[in-house]
Amino acid sequence: MDLTTLPKVELHSHLDCCLSYGAVRRIDPRITRERYARDFVGPERCPSLADFLGYTMNYRALLQSERALRIAVQDVFEQMSRDGVAYVELRFAPLVHAADSSMSGDEVVAYVAEETAAQAAATGIDARLILCTLRDYDTERSLETARLAVRHAGSGPVAGLDIAGDEIGFPLDGHVPAFALAREAGLGVTVHAGESGGPENVREALDKTGTRRIGHGVHSVEDRELLARLAEERVHLEICPASNVQTSAVPSLEEHPVGRLREAGVPVGISTDARAVTNVRLTREYERLRDVLGWTQADFAQMNLDALEAAFAPEDVKRRVRDVLVHAYAEV
Ligand SMILES: [Zn+2]
Repeated sequence: MDLTTLPKVELHSHLDCCLSYGAVRRIDPRITRERYARDFVGPERCPSLADFLGYTMNYRALLQSERALRIAVQDVFEQMSRDGVAYVELRFAPLVHAADSSMSGDEVVAYVAEETAAQAAATGIDARLILCTLRDYDTERSLETARLAVRHAGSGPVAGLDIAGDEIGFPLDGHVPAFALAREAGLGVTVHAGESGGPENVREALDKTGTRRIGHGVHSVEDRELLARLAEERVHLEICPASNVQTSAVPSLEEHPVGRLREAGVPVGISTDARAVTNVRLTREYERLRDVLGWTQADFAQMNLDALEAAFAPEDVKRRVRDVLVHAYAEV
C-alpha cells in the first residue's frame, strides 16, 4: 500500500503552523536553519498545549504582509501535493495577521482566499478555508471574525468558522453569538475542544455552538454517554495523532484513543494540525497508524469517506472527491 499517493481528505490544518524552512527563509532571509529548528519546530513532546502554542507566535510574527501570506499558502499546497491530498480545509485566525501589519481583516482574508483559489486550481486540490476566532478573544472580536467569514463566504473558498487556542480557563459563552451568526449565514462550524480539556468541553461545544464537528475531542473517550451521543448524532472528530502526542493531550500514539473512538462508532478523520511545529507530513501520520496501530487500506478508506461527509463543501464537490477516493482505494 503506497500511502504517499493515496488520495486524502484533511479537515484540520492551521495555515500559520505549516511554514517550511524554505518558506520562512523566503519571508525573512535572516532566519538561519538553526534558528528555524529552535524557534519554529517544537520538541516531540511539549509539557502542555500552552507551551506548544508558544511556537505558533513565531509564525504569526512573520505572517504580517500580503507577500508572506501568499508564500504560506503556496508552501502548504506544495506540501499537500506531495502528500496526495485531494481535499483540504485550511484554517487561520485573520485578526492575528492584521495585528501588527497595515492589513485589515478583510484584506487578510481576501489575500489568503485569492491565493488558495489560485493554488487549488494549479494543483487540483479542492480547498476550503475556515476562519478561526480564539478562546481568549472577547465577544466583539469573536463576532468580528464571524462577520469576516460571512462577508467572504459565497464568492470564494471561505466556508466555516472555528475557535482555537487553549480551552483551559476560556469557556465558550462569550463566543456563542459568533457561532450563531455563522450558522445563521449557512457556514460550517467546528470547535477545538476535548484536547487539553475533558469531555465536558466537548459537550459544551455541542450544546452552545451547535457544532457537528470537533477539533481533536480525544478526551471524549473518557465519557461513555458522550461517546454514544457522538456516534448517534454522527459528530465528526478531527483527529491529529502526532499533534495530540506533542501537546500531551495523549501520552503516546500507542495509547491514542482513536481506535476506541472508532469502535464506539464515532466518525473520525486524520489531519496534521500543525505540520511545521510538529514536523509531520500527512503521509507520515498514515504510516504511523499503519505501523503502530495496524490500520489497513479499509480503515483509511472509511476514515477518508467519513471526513468527506463532514466537510464544509457543497454536494457536487463531495461527490467528485468521493469518486476519486472510492476509485483509488478500490485499486490498492
Ligand atoms: Zn488545531
